[in-house]
Amino acid sequence: MNYKTIIEPFKIKVVEPIKITTVEERKAFLKKANYNTFLLNSEEVLIDFLTDSGTSAMSADQWAGIMQGDESYAGSSSYHKMHKTIFNLTGMEYIYPVHQGRAGERILYSLLGGKGKTFISNTHFDTTRANIEFSGAEAIDIVIPEGLNPMQYHPFKGNMDTEKLEKLILEKGADNIGAVILTVTNNSGGGQPVSMKNAKEVSAICKKHGVNLFLDCCRIAENSYFIKEREEEYKNVSSKQIAVEMFSLCDGAVMSAKKDALVNMGGFLAVKNKELSESCKNLLIITEGFTTYGGLSGRDMEALAIGLEEVFDEGYLKYRIKSTSYLGDRLHAMGIPLIWPIGGHAVYIDAKALYPNIPVNQYPGQSLVCQLYLLGGIRSCEIGSVMFGKYDDNHELIPASMELVRLAIPRRVYTQSHIEYVIEVFERILLEKEKAFGMKITEEPKFLRHFTSKFEPIYKA
Ligand SMILES: *Cc1c(COP(=O)(O)O)cnc(C)c1O
Repeated sequence: MNYKTIIEPFKIKVVEPIKITTVEERKAFLKKANYNTFLLNSEEVLIDFLTDSGTSAMSADQWAGIMQGDESYAGSSSYHKMHKTIFNLTGMEYIYPVHQGRAGERILYSLLGGKGKTFISNTHFDTTRANIEFSGAEAIDIVIPEGLNPMQYHPFKGNMDTEKLEKLILEKGADNIGAVILTVTNNSGGGQPVSMKNAKEVSAICKKHGVNLFLDCCRIAENSYFIKEREEEYKNVSSKQIAVEMFSLCDGAVMSAKKDALVNMGGFLAVKNKELSESCKNLLIITEGFTTYGGLSGRDMEALAIGLEEVFDEGYLKYRIKSTSYLGDRLHAMGIPLIWPIGGHAVYIDAKALYPNIPVNQYPGQSLVCQLYLLGGIRSCEIGSVMFGKYDDNHELIPASMELVRLAIPRRVYTQSHIEYVIEVFERILLEKEKAFGMKITEEPKFLRHFTSKFEPIYKA
């Protein structure tokens, strides 16, 4: 029997109360936070869609694992359990725990980077790019053209442009390529998946030129489910087996376990090459910790090992991908402009198209972020000119290419009725479209200004 309602494949054992607030209260909270939702206290938020990173709910098994954690400095049984799980998945022998994804990136890319080196990715995530550029190397993004067009349908908008890849390797010289990095799913490109066909082509090009291929595998399970759904020859292959095949194409992998390993903190770095692993080991010991714990407690590794098994449950993955697209598809049907099709972990609203009368230098994305909070207590994240805008010599804004607002969905945290509520808030957003106000920045730091900038609304006369 195939029913159309997909239920949450879990029951709730522990609850975290949400404090219900009024519009009047939220007005005061937002003003106090200087119209920057990063500066709100979390208890002032009803539905928190700021990020899916480290915000998952752990299972009863994971919590039980926390009590089983072996906190021995060396040779912890929790490390061995984590090693076994990751080895079975990746086939990579050298596995190091790190405190989160960027720590693994720093180790690997500082070793392979440096002045004169080039890294090529479908899209480098911001911490990946920062670690590469900090080493003195350059980072080039070559997602397929469809990946840059919000409304154009393509089943695998995260794919890498293989023609450009081959051209770049020849142009720069294979010896000068630090690594090629496939980000699955492509977080900065809307959480869009990469196909196995594309991964195979990228791998073949890298092998031909003797260039390292790494997987930024934060959302490997979600990506595998998309392959199972959309790539004909994989429809009868398990999501886990699909992940195993994708890892087999690569020389190494970095994972922020705060995503698909269903834990609140953690990550790992895995490589196949012994020599490279030795260099990684030295850096790891200097800054993260001994090889059998990296930056983690035994209990963290225990929960990570369990989460990395749970995430490949087909029932969970189906619920995860379908529930994210349920929200996106409903908003789409209401006429909310967004990145289409819906990715794995988030819905990205096109605020420039939603608020055509707010000029880009008045930050339509930030305006929508504020409206979502005021009208519904929903916290979202601007991914537009607040995050990526720059100034020219006359202090005029050079805007980002898109003004997006991301609704990132934490894993196993919200239920269907929370999502119905969010959809209703968007109905209100449409009704009050004309009342949305532009924003101006009153104070800003030099770097990563979205985190701490202060704003003021520009009310219409
Ligand atoms: C989150 C993320 C990272 C960085 O991981 P942290 O755990 O936040 O340090 C790297 N790459 C991608 C694709 C990510 O989503």
